[in-house]
Amino acid sequence: MAIDKGLYPWFTQAWSELNFDKMPHAILIHGQTGIGKFDFALRLAKALVCESDSNIKPCCSCEACHWFDTGNHPDFLGIVPEDQAQLLPHEAMDGAEGAEDKPKKGKKKTDDDAEKADKKASSFIKVDQVREALEGINTAPHRGRQRVVLLNPVESLQAVSANTLLKTLEEPPESTLFILVSDRLDRVLPTIRSRCRLLALPRPSQEQSLTWLVQELSMAGIKVDRAQVERALSEAGGAVMDARDYLLGSGEEGAGALVEPLLKALSEGGQINWLVAAELIHKAPMPELLVILERWIADLLSVQQANLVRYYPSKQAELQRCAQSARSNKLSDFWKALLDARRHELHALANRLQIEALLIRYQEIFKD
Ligand SMILES: [Zn+2]
Repeated sequence: MAIDKGLYPWFTQAWSELNFDKMPHAILIHGQTGIGKFDFALRLAKALVCESDSNIKPCCSCEACHWFDTGNHPDFLGIVPEDQAQLLPHEAMDGAEGAEDKPKKGKKKTDDDAEKADKKASSFIKVDQVREALEGINTAPHRGRQRVVLLNPVESLQAVSANTLLKTLEEPPESTLFILVSDRLDRVLPTIRSRCRLLALPRPSQEQSLTWLVQELSMAGIKVDRAQVERALSEAGGAVMDARDYLLGSGEEGAGALVEPLLKALSEGGQINWLVAAELIHKAPMPELLVILERWIADLLSVQQANLVRYYPSKQAELQRCAQSARSNKLSDFWKALLDARRHELHALANRLQIEALLIRYQEIFKD
């Protein structure tokens, strides 16, 4: 089964503008999170190794395409953090075996347990991964065409790995093309950035997202009304892929299960029982938690300033109530603190103390 997911409609133009005869040594694909950049990058990698004579690539039927789909193409190197390994092409993508690669669902969570936390798949690209991948890169590609290295996300590289990559980009090996993907261009080292051709991918329009989501869901045999889809999209901050995962139910372990209890707690404003709330949500990944907090605060600020709700329209009444009693200056300070926390989130381990501290600070917003 081919893994070519086709091209998302909002990327058609960007795709048509690619000039396969004049590829640079390195492309840095960037754009908003959750719009499908990684799938675009994979498709590009596949097109580059595709051996079809036709102009339409990837053809999805030649030997090279088949090898790519099964994760066996000798000239394709995918570098992603361990916890994203299932995103790369591999054997039995849609078979029973593939399902095992997904984050283990029914598995019991034993957090607060440092030992277990250590065994968790890393969300960083490790320096060994980069070194290993780049080791054989100066030899000729196996198929005689081109070698493609895909690295996602660039901002998850730690300093040592980033330097290793940089050295390679400074003296790019012949016949090798680097495809780097980033959600946060501002976090990518300028020295890396300057050695790549930048390719900004657009976010889909609201209409495109909704149409596409409805289509995806109906293909999956799931019936939801448009209002539900609209709500999911807005709660995902316009990140269409996140909305899809949420609606398809695969977001249950992440933000999906987190949103309602957290919003309910935040709606309490100054009355928030932060101890109970922290107990409910401390198992969630810190980045997702911060995003929800950030959106809630953004909504509070925007209700105060313009009586507008952007992310959580279903909580309009609660937001208005909280906005009335929130101290504007404290709200802005908290907002800044959240942005700051997000900047460091990659290096911060979420734990209950941190979450409690955040919620206590949230409660403070409503006090003189
Ligand atoms: Zn092909």
